[in-house]
Amino acid sequence: MLRRSVFQAVRVSRLNPAYRASSPVRQTSAAVSVLARTYSSPSPVRDYEAQLRGMLDQAARNVEAGVRAPESDDKSLRLIMVAKPGAGKGTLSSRLVKKYNLNFISTGDVLRHEIQAGSELGKAVEKIVAGGGLVPDALMVELVRKELDRHVGESWILDGFPRTLKQGRMLNDVLTSEGRPLNLVVNLNVPDSIILARIKARWVHLPSGRVYNDDFNPPKNPGVDDETGEPLSKRPDDTPEVFTKRLRSYYEATAPLLEMYATEYPDCLYSLTGNTSDEIWPQLMEVVAPLHERAGGYAAEADKHVRDEADDLRDTTEVNVGDKTAHIQ
Ligand code: ADP
Repeated sequence: MLRRSVFQAVRVSRLNPAYRASSPVRQTSAAVSVLARTYSSPSPVRDYEAQLRGMLDQAARNVEAGVRAPESDDKSLRLIMVAKPGAGKGTLSSRLVKKYNLNFISTGDVLRHEIQAGSELGKAVEKIVAGGGLVPDALMVELVRKELDRHVGESWILDGFPRTLKQGRMLNDVLTSEGRPLNLVVNLNVPDSIILARIKARWVHLPSGRVYNDDFNPPKNPGVDDETGEPLSKRPDDTPEVFTKRLRSYYEATAPLLEMYATEYPDCLYSLTGNTSDEIWPQLMEVVAPLHERAGGYAAEADKHVRDEADDLRDTTEVNVGDKTAHIQ
């Protein structure tokens, strides 16, 4: 059973066109270690892990059968990342934005901005957001459409949307009708046991917000803040019980979403597994780089570099000293 799954996990990675350039050996060893860890680690939601493997197998079979996401002449990179809470989506998104110069569109940020600006939309959603509820789908889709319309022909990561199957379908409809369907869906798969261990090791000094971690950033004296000597505590939502609850609702909402992508966008779906963002980052670059290149991204990055240098020069004064030219800031 284990061997079959390992084989299939490897096959998924290698079948996908963006993985062709990567080393099969590395893929193999990564998949073996990942699955070994998954099998040995206790998970609060074990069923989901089996379901996820099933979905990836299905995606591989669909790719083999020739199923493809809708085609598009627009080669820009259009990416969503799906990740359980605490899996490092924020860290990895900001690395991607920096490295590849992508637009980052976060529905949470847009909503907060609208609320702060006191717009009609802001007023309509203020209470829902404050209570941690979900804003109605129709409003969300309008908001996302408006944001994406500002980035036609450009590459982007959409964060916070879609969260449910219904939102996923609505997004597909909007993007496909505009001829720019999603072309990358990345699932970040950090084992539950790893996230739980991280939460257990995390302590906070509530008055200042200083965060400690027993494993890599411990306080000088156990249980007390370095600067004030006051006791450290757990954030109210940083307990295994609350995390397990959040995980369950995450799985309920996203499992059907991932299943839809495995069925309809199998060639765009990747599941990357690792214990830390540093482990996942190289895998993510391997997936993103070919699409970014196809989108003309290196040229864009080079242009930006040249523009930045030109900006730097504009801020300096040229001084000629003998046969040398100096730039003074
Ligand atoms: P979090 O990840 O903590 O939920 P976000 O910044 O992504 O934070 O979102 C903040 C709030 O905005 C959510 O609690 C929710 O009320 C609303 N929101 C964001 N995205 C969506 C969405 N896709 N559907 C419905 N509501 C959303």
